[in-house]
Amino acid sequence: MAFVTRFAPSPTGPLHLGHAYSAILAHDRARAAGGTFLLRMENTDLERCRPEYAAAICEDLRWLGLTWDGPVQEQAPKIASYNHRLEALAERGLLYPCSCTRADIRAALSAPQEGVAHQVYPGTCRGRPMKSRLPGDALRLDLGLALARLAPALPAFEETGPHFAGHHPIQPAQALTEIGDVVLSRKGEDIVAYFLASAFDDADQGITHVIRGEDLFTFTPIQVILQRLLGLPTPIYHHHPLIRDDQGKRLAKRDDARALAKFRAEGASPEDIRHMIGL
Ligand code: GLU
Repeated sequence: MAFVTRFAPSPTGPLHLGHAYSAILAHDRARAAGGTFLLRMENTDLERCRPEYAAAICEDLRWLGLTWDGPVQEQAPKIASYNHRLEALAERGLLYPCSCTRADIRAALSAPQEGVAHQVYPGTCRGRPMKSRLPGDALRLDLGLALARLAPALPAFEETGPHFAGHHPIQPAQALTEIGDVVLSRKGEDIVAYFLASAFDDADQGITHVIRGEDLFTFTPIQVILQRLLGLPTPIYHHHPLIRDDQGKRLAKRDDARALAKFRAEGASPEDIRHMIGL
């Protein structure tokens, strides 16, 4: 079986040890399988992503000794095309415009849902026709309708990561309470949800294996639902454990203390980095 994987960072900061882990794991698996390793900059967030971070990420990866096949793909130039491809879902009545602000959503949810980290949209705008869309409205997926259209075959995915290995059929009732009517696109033409752009690109680039951190595991069901709705293939997923700091906190790009560049400046070698992250 062909093996095509990718490393898909969002260039919003310097590469840290957690990213190095993801990149090395995906790279090494692709090379061991005689497969393909692609590099994709997920820079749809035009406010937070910067070209200098993208350049620094490439430079860190090269320093680690990683090579990728073909040119680096960027998502930013494709934002209009991602939005265009959403029209197929709109034509099937699966999307609706939403003018709720974050504050509206919070207010609608506040009493019964207090303390819940991920707030599922209460559906205030559900049923609004697409032609009522105003500039600035978000587009949401009507998840209940989408799942009903996919029934009776449940979307499912295969996972090979150590903590979630196995076959994962998506349970509609659980998806409705945990995912809900997600926003796929916002503010007209210039923002798409990261998980949507990523799902399109995984299909366009023929990705057979997605290797990424466990923090992204919760996005997998919605990506798999979107793949089914859009007729795209579902790759095999491998979510790896996260590299944590000494306090057990997940490393984020803003934690500059764990930035690869800092270890490099202190004289660490690529082998030291591999050793530090247990690869
Ligand atoms: N762009 C995402 C990130 O930086 C990763 C997306 C993915 O690997 O699917 O966290």
